[in-house]
Amino acid sequence: MLIFSPTTIRFLNPQPLPYLSFSHSISLTLPLTSLPTPSKSPHFPSFHINCIDAAQPFDYESHLKNRYIQSTSLKIAIIGFGNFGQFLSKTFLRHHHTLLAHSRTNYADLANRLGVSFYADPHDLFEQHPDVVLLSTSILSTETLLKKLPFQRLRRNTLFVDVLSVKEFPRNLFLKYLPPDFDILCTHPMFGPESGKTSWAGLPFVYDKVRIGDEESRIKRCDKFLDIFEKEGCRMVEMSCMEHDKYAAGSQFVTHTMGRVLEKFGLESSPINTKGYETLLNLVENTKGDSFDLYYGLFMYNQNALEQLERLDMAFESIKKDLFGRLHQVYRKQLFGDNNGEVEKKRSLAQKLLGNGSLTEPPLDNVRQDGS
Ligand code: NAP
Repeated sequence: MLIFSPTTIRFLNPQPLPYLSFSHSISLTLPLTSLPTPSKSPHFPSFHINCIDAAQPFDYESHLKNRYIQSTSLKIAIIGFGNFGQFLSKTFLRHHHTLLAHSRTNYADLANRLGVSFYADPHDLFEQHPDVVLLSTSILSTETLLKKLPFQRLRRNTLFVDVLSVKEFPRNLFLKYLPPDFDILCTHPMFGPESGKTSWAGLPFVYDKVRIGDEESRIKRCDKFLDIFEKEGCRMVEMSCMEHDKYAAGSQFVTHTMGRVLEKFGLESSPINTKGYETLLNLVENTKGDSFDLYYGLFMYNQNALEQLERLDMAFESIKKDLFGRLHQVYRKQLFGDNNGEVEKKRSLAQKLLGNGSLTEPPLDNVRQDGS
């Protein structure tokens, strides 16, 4: 940065560079004949220049820094600049990558404020020849969108990445629609704008290098992209898309389902919140920002999700039966006393009334007459 003021030019380098041997501070007085003198003074004015960390031709520090940034930075085109696309772009920019974006909605102003170049037309975006094209569209719209993208405008071995919350589905679409020369990296950052608001440290990042060419440049490009998440401290988990979907249905889909159920149920904070209740409130907070499209995509495009939904349903029914079975026992004892023959008859009646009696055998022994 250069600061001009009358009288002297001074270089203010607070820290001497280890490989340069000039003094920290130079002062000189310049007669600046070519500049007009606002004071009309008979004397030539002089300028005081404070020079702090300016990128001088001999400033190797800044040259090296620029060269390092150039060598590690990628030109990343984000397709789908909604909630998650914007969230990712902020971190990518912090890592000195060049960001371009395209979306169905015109986000030009917002993108401009963030420092992202927005292209309303995907042809224009692809003509910029990004190193990486990152798909962050809704799961439901992915296939329609992929069919329309002008791949012919891209460089022949562009890296395609997706961040969809299901993995086998985009993997199969990429293999079906992308030109065979393109590299494919399927990823799932397992956090979002809410859970990753303050930091990504320790949060899981799942990836599958579905198809990465052998050339060193292609391997490096993929590694540079993964580096963003690694440097942010994510827990990097390499696994196949199929494995991901199996685990995610049992964890992520169930989490979203419970969050939505509790949101519909209408949890409210109270002055006596327990830690457990706070956890439930946080769960609702974490999932309510996500679109229904996202949740529906988790259900529709993960073949394991339906089974998990049915298991949840059965578990809920089973819990209800445990409760009602015990209640029924207490009530029956109060009505009829402890007559064994009668108890058996009433037991089968109770099971009929409760529907599928096989799930519940009301525990008789530890139920006292007072219901405790
Ligand atoms: P989303 O509702 O799943 O997707 C919204 C994005 O999809 C927007 O960019 C939207 O574009 C685009 N889109 C929707 N319908 C479209 C259509 N018919 N044609 C073209 N584009 C369409 O919400 P999201 O949270 O932003 O998620 C984006 C992707 O990231 C999803 O695949 C999701 O699974 C994944 N993901 C999300 C999270 C998260 O926490 N949110 C975490 C990990 C992964 P416009 O905005 O231009 O309309």
